[in-house]
Amino acid sequence: MPQLAQRVGRAKPSAIMVIAEKAKQLKAAGRDIISFSIGVPNFLPGEHVYAAAREALQHDSGQYGSNRGADALLDAFLVHIEKLGFKGYGRANLSIGIGAKQLLYNLGEALLNEGEEICFAAPFWTTYRDIADILGAKANILHCGPEQNYKLTPAQLEAALARKPKVFLFNNPSNPTGMVYTRDEIAALAAVLMKYPDTWIITDDIYNSMVFDGIGYHNFVHAQPELKERLIFVDSVSKTYGMPGWRVGLIAAPENVAKAITTLNSNHITSLPEVITAAAVAAFSGPQAIPEAKCKEFAEKRDVVVNALRAIPGVVCPYPQGAFYAFPDISVAFGKSHQGVKINDDVELCAVLLEAAGVACVPGSAFGEPRAMRISYTCPTAQLQPGLERIQAFFAELT
Ligand code: PLP
Repeated sequence: MPQLAQRVGRAKPSAIMVIAEKAKQLKAAGRDIISFSIGVPNFLPGEHVYAAAREALQHDSGQYGSNRGADALLDAFLVHIEKLGFKGYGRANLSIGIGAKQLLYNLGEALLNEGEEICFAAPFWTTYRDIADILGAKANILHCGPEQNYKLTPAQLEAALARKPKVFLFNNPSNPTGMVYTRDEIAALAAVLMKYPDTWIITDDIYNSMVFDGIGYHNFVHAQPELKERLIFVDSVSKTYGMPGWRVGLIAAPENVAKAITTLNSNHITSLPEVITAAAVAAFSGPQAIPEAKCKEFAEKRDVVVNALRAIPGVVCPYPQGAFYAFPDISVAFGKSHQGVKINDDVELCAVLLEAAGVACVPGSAFGEPRAMRISYTCPTAQLQPGLERIQAFFAELT
């Protein structure tokens, strides 16, 4: 019997999908389930996006397109990132992927040799560790617990960079914590990054349109423009425009990195479809009313979520200021029982919470923080309060 390649064995099934699947099964069996599990936006792109896709379909050439991305898409993205404060970039700095996820994987391939080190903070988006594992890279995970608001400190970064990792991967706003770094925090980390010129920097900032409380989106290149020479900014239409299934991601990067991704594309995906490209162009260049309204809605929902969680004795919920996640420390429940069922850890807690209370949350250990669980609050507003009340009742019933 032939064997699969070893790298496949290193990939783990997603803990998020495990909970989401279980929730789906219970729903199908007639249970009333409220899902706080999957991090998908709860809105559709504007009509102008569909109109652009329909129009493109009328003229679709049906041919392969550019490995780097169509000029219209690159130009629309250049205007988009200029508004985010990225100045002096041209088409040669850009490339595309089938969403940010595939781009991150390709960046791993482009930047990391087997055995080389990549460092990133925990809590982290689950895929980071999986990409490192599949590629055979060494992941140095920097633990940032609730006591430091899940944020990386300059001292932690300094210690990690002193090991001369090949890549530092950073995510702001954060999935799973919803934390957003302030201008000063970004500047302090950027000052450390300046001292270590041999490390590539990837900033996965696909939630950049969802920042609350007026703190704004900040990137290391805003604080230290010279970092542009080794920093890769990753963006996507998924979360900003409610288009996760359209699968469009882009990077703004040094020319040699953009070229490397384009070369990989020529061997992997070839190009994006014309219809999808037209939709993405419309999303970037069209009216921004939907992302703006959604940002406001998520900020309001965040308040409801945080207030409900903080009302539970012993639960600690650092204050999220972006994306659509809260990441409470629920370790107060460990060692207790719910209706006779013992809860030892986050995985058991999420399983019992789903089974007994019909609320699906994701165990924090999936993100490298076993004291917490992730609540994604993109569900319909009408489900939010009832779901939170169920969580409160569940904790009140612990003995
Ligand atoms: N990066 C982060 C932090 C995410 O949360 C996600 C999706 O959940 C992605 C990247 C992947 O985005 P895309 O849909 O563009 O592949």
